[in-house]
Amino acid sequence: MLDLHRVSHVYANGTRALDEVSLSIPHGMYGLLGPNGAGKSTLMRIVATLQTPTRGSIRFDDIDIIAEPEKLRRRLGYLPQDFGVYPRVSAYEMLDHMAVLKGIVSPADRRETVERLLNQVNLWPVRKKALAGFSGGMRQRFGIAQALIGDPDLIIVDEPTAGLDPEERNRFLNLLAGIGEEVVVILSTHIVEDVADLCPRMAVFAAGRIRLEGAPLQLIEASRGRIWKKTIERKAFDSYRDRYELISSRLVAGRTVIHVLSDGDPGNGFIPVEGDLEDVYFSTLAHSRRAA
Ligand code: ADP
Repeated sequence: MLDLHRVSHVYANGTRALDEVSLSIPHGMYGLLGPNGAGKSTLMRIVATLQTPTRGSIRFDDIDIIAEPEKLRRRLGYLPQDFGVYPRVSAYEMLDHMAVLKGIVSPADRRETVERLLNQVNLWPVRKKALAGFSGGMRQRFGIAQALIGDPDLIIVDEPTAGLDPEERNRFLNLLAGIGEEVVVILSTHIVEDVADLCPRMAVFAAGRIRLEGAPLQLIEASRGRIWKKTIERKAFDSYRDRYELISSRLVAGRTVIHVLSDGDPGNGFIPVEGDLEDVYFSTLAHSRRAA
């Protein structure tokens, strides 16, 4: 279990990136969903002990990670947002090198680890190819392989699916899903489907604060009866935005479909819809923007 208690972070230029974040993250996949600039990477770097928060405390099981970062590092696997080292060495050589850095000194142990991980992430057939020539999806799968060296029980993946095409994204998410339920895996993302597909628990994070926390299915259930939809003319959009609590709008076959939040029937031709996680997410963001 990872426990964050009132964690705040203010950068030297005065930006308050985290504002009293308290969270308990159990074993399994946990989705941290929020828009760009919400503070996700700051939080991920702090939990990965690369940055010290301005205030607050964080425990992972019996480790106080701020007081004893080196203890946490031995149990941590981290795939940063900008895992940007793609040299002209092969995937095999690079993983072998990273295993040395993680302290696997015996050549036999290292060989077993590297071969097992390359197979696990489906990069065995391309193990002799230079990382520099890998596609985005292959790079991210390599990133997971290096994060899994040493069997960590806290794994942090920061925006791993950004920029992947749908097939690569699926492949990557399936890989994450197979990591196992006895470890804590935190997936930070701005993509609702990543969380919807994969995470039994999640938090919505915006402007440095937790805005909503729970199981996606329960959060969807709680929105039942409050999400309404209507297809409108594009030129009428502004007047709807002024009159209703707008959650989202999208173009469908050239027409504008809006979703609004309302406790009762808003009338005016709106029809009720089964909300999904996207509705939950966008209504939470709309609410937090209004509160700001
Ligand atoms: P996210 O990962 O959700 O996009 P970040 O943690 O990267 O969010 O950023 C949160 C806020 O902190 C943003 O306003 C960002 O501009 C600011 N920020 C991030 N890193 C720094 C830094 N090194 N110095 C100052 N401000 C920063």
